[in-house]
Amino acid sequence: MSAEWQILPWHTSQWRQLTQALKQQRLAHAWLFSGPAGCGTREFAQVFAAALWCRAPAADRSPCGICPDCRQVRAQTHPNLQTLQVEEGKRDIPIEAVRELCQRLAMTSHDGRAQLALIDPADALNRNSVNALLKTVEEPPAHSHLLLLAQRPLALPATLRSRCQQLRFPPPSVEQATNWLRAHAPAGAAVETALSAAHGAPLDALALLNDGGLDRQIAWRKAMLDLAAGRDDPVRAAQAIGEEQAPAFLRWFFATLANLLRLRTLGGGDADLEWLARALPVSAAAALADELIGDLRRLESNARPLWLLESLLIRWQDLLARR
Ligand SMILES: [Zn+2]
Repeated sequence: MSAEWQILPWHTSQWRQLTQALKQQRLAHAWLFSGPAGCGTREFAQVFAAALWCRAPAADRSPCGICPDCRQVRAQTHPNLQTLQVEEGKRDIPIEAVRELCQRLAMTSHDGRAQLALIDPADALNRNSVNALLKTVEEPPAHSHLLLLAQRPLALPATLRSRCQQLRFPPPSVEQATNWLRAHAPAGAAVETALSAAHGAPLDALALLNDGGLDRQIAWRKAMLDLAAGRDDPVRAAQAIGEEQAPAFLRWFFATLANLLRLRTLGGGDADLEWLARALPVSAAAALADELIGDLRRLESNARPLWLLESLLIRWQDLLARR
């Protein structure tokens, strides 16, 4: 397998289970892979897809990573692979898209080989889409496989979950994540800081280190603290973050707020976060998180990001000033 396609050290038992099923030709028709974002579940699914068609697999059925099929999977152009995602600007996967997917799956593949439909994230299926999918899950066309990826599998209806073979992908331990990140990040990178900024998700942490996102998040975190302590002005802080980064900031702020509420109950985090977590009035912070969900929706309907950002930061400062 090419280096890029190594199975992550914390996924070896899941890989063994799947390749075993492949070798014995008793692969389930519907799979549900669940695990937190940024920990490699999506990447695992890609390697799994390649293993279905690879022309030169290793003895354990790992894909070679370089044959035409492997390359097509990587480029997301494989003719036997259909991927269903949330379209830009949409919140869920509509029934029409699911119907189309099921119809395509019902057509015999042009070369008689396996067909795979990947739904990512399956959390985005609405009730009607799930109902449309159930028939295919119950009576799958020959040689077809469905693979559902979900961060919150329990949010899926039990009728769907129970018909899938479930495979859980727990996050790596701090030690595993740190070691992996050290081996893949540029020399001298702030590995621990990146991992903490990515809430322990190593692939997200690597992306933060590689695209300058970490420096941005450090600045955002400082702004959040300065506003909380009354050392900065919300309008000035919003200008500094800027219109272009405003959507990313809103999503980051939501994740940070959720993390602070968790820290308040469970403890942990560094001194700054601990201070913030203690200072936060819980019910008001939960209300702010709800409003943020509304803001993220308004972003999709062309609300001005900078305006949303300013009003969020004003609310944030008020929340801490009232304590
Ligand atoms: Zn291959």
